[in-house]
Amino acid sequence: MKEGMPPQASTQGALSGLFVNPAAQRRSDFQRACAGLFDGLRVADGAEQAATLLAQQPARVLVLDLERFEIGIDLPALGQLIAQRAGAPTLVLCPFTNARWLPALMAYGPLSYVITPLVPEHLSAAVAARLREGFAPPPAAGPVETELAALLAVRSEAQQALAEADDSIRFGERLCVALLGWPGVTHAAMFQLHDGTDLRLEAQHGKAGLDLGALLGRGERLLQSPLRHAFPGLLAAAGGETVLLDDVAKAGEAELAQALGAHGVQMVLGLPIPAAGPGAPRGSLCLLFEHGRAFSRAQLGVFDDLAQLAAFGLRMAELMRESEELLGRVTQLATLDALTGVANRRHGEFLLEQEIRRARRYRLPLALIAFDIDRFRNVNDAYGHPVGDMALRAVTDTARALLRSSDVLVRSGGEEFQVIAPHTSAIDGLKMAEKLRAAIEQTEIPGCDHVTVSLGVAQLGETENGDSLMVRVNAALARAKRAGRNCVELAMQ
Ligand code: GH3
Ligand code: MG
Ligand code: MG
Repeated sequence: MKEGMPPQASTQGALSGLFVNPAAQRRSDFQRACAGLFDGLRVADGAEQAATLLAQQPARVLVLDLERFEIGIDLPALGQLIAQRAGAPTLVLCPFTNARWLPALMAYGPLSYVITPLVPEHLSAAVAARLREGFAPPPAAGPVETELAALLAVRSEAQQALAEADDSIRFGERLCVALLGWPGVTHAAMFQLHDGTDLRLEAQHGKAGLDLGALLGRGERLLQSPLRHAFPGLLAAAGGETVLLDDVAKAGEAELAQALGAHGVQMVLGLPIPAAGPGAPRGSLCLLFEHGRAFSRAQLGVFDDLAQLAAFGLRMAELMRESEELLGRVTQLATLDALTGVANRRHGEFLLEQEIRRARRYRLPLALIAFDIDRFRNVNDAYGHPVGDMALRAVTDTARALLRSSDVLVRSGGEEFQVIAPHTSAIDGLKMAEKLRAAIEQTEIPGCDHVTVSLGVAQLGETENGDSLMVRVNAALARAKRAGRNCVELAMQ
């Protein structure tokens, strides 16, 4: 450049370029590969030096190579360079793991981009192609309106998937079906992180013969997969970055590229599904495209919306699961006796009414057995309350082991229990009671002697209600006590 020459004189018509990257090696690599494409190519090590050089003399084309830059630190300064271009072409070389830069930089002004890494020949070919095309904005896959309609449909279908958000797998499947509406997408998948460590393939949809679980070697523990550094869905979930591999070969995993290529997949996009707060993403969405293509800022924005929507759906599924668990626990607390784990008195009354109705409807016999531990006060007095508690648990365990799954064991009071026995006549009830008596007598209780029980048995009368049945069975039990305990008495009609 001759000294004193006005800037315009050397740039008008001429294809001057300015390449920006912090690494000296990359600057010289670019010069070696692409200097021939420009009438003059200058280099700068960062935004500051670039601004100085551009102030001295404008460049027809600005090439920002994002490798080694930090989005958190360098974005505003690099963005300013784009903003000051006043429409002059900017070409961004974007590493495939940093696709999040693209919409952020597009906010400052129009740009064209190439995904890296690229071997030098491909790099110069890609830059030459952009120079030839005059940096036209990326062409849409189809006519703009068709594509717009498709994207709106994807978004609205994805929103409808939220109706399935009570279950993360069903939600994922619906969402993947929705994502297939994106022009060029041939397969879509959702990965979700479980318990903060286990990344799983939650759902996938698209190519019939393509199973990402098989491709990645497994469907779970995917953060430990050997392909976690190469496959965009895993990279995005692990690192929280948008990963755009416009040519799967660029990830450096020949087998992966070959396997995807065999299914007609050329480009893969990984979108992190953000967590509610700081920390690792909740998972990722992964879109597999038939062809490489460029995206506009608006299109990249729609991807972000979809990832947000996935986050919302997964959070809803999580809340739903939590509230079901909570409801289960509350129900358990309200219906089960804390010491023995059998039905409590209140729930026993409810179940007895239910069984009475059923017995009436199907004209089946129903027996009720009541039993009470003999001289239990003495056990507490001799061995202490904790041993008494242990005895209560041992007696329940023995009874439970003897009963059928349709029988219900109830702790009706301190050391009093009932068995509701559907399909059981008085005779069968007597046999059952005798079995209980004999088994409890034999039960080993750590820390104290064996205990015995007295039992009453009653069969539901044809027109009898629960209260009356209860009165009769308790009377039978009282008779067993009077008869000397450790025996069974049948209730009178
Ligand atoms: P019997 O029934 O043979 O007439 O004599 P009993 O000594 O068992 O009768 P009673 O009804 O007078 O005493 C019941 C005892 O059961 C009194 C109470 O301390 C004990 N008990 C009730 N609930 C519990 C419990 O949850 N844990 C323990 N350890 N003891 C209990
Ligand atoms: Mg007792
Ligand atoms: Mg008692």
